Amino acid sequence: MRKKIKGRPSNYRKGLQNDDKWQEVRRKIKIRDKHKCRICGNKLELEVHHITYCIDGESTRGIEIFNLEWLITLCHSCHHFVHQNKNHKLNPNNPNKISANYF
Ligand SMILES: [Zn+2]
Ligand SMILES: [Zn+2]
Repeated sequence: MRKKIKGRPSNYRKGLQNDDKWQEVRRKIKIRDKHKCRICGNKLELEVHHITYCIDGESTRGIEIFNLEWLITLCHSCHHFVHQNKNHKLNPNNPNKISANYF
């Protein structure tokens, strides 16, 4: 006999909430960037890139909604390019990276 499951494990629920938040953030970023790659203007295979994962020593994970300038819409190939190039202005490891507001 199967037991009735009343609610799911809390970490599952938390993960789902974070995922919902992330979906919302992605939606906002793509709208702001007019559904185009900010590097090449491609409208296909769009992804949202984290320019930084950390502001003033604090992780931005889960609170991206308050730091939208540090996210940017890129197409798959530009996204790959940014991650391959440590000196790219949008690479999270570049100490001189710039926010989407100045890109
Ligand atoms: Zn692109
Ligand atoms: Zn990325």
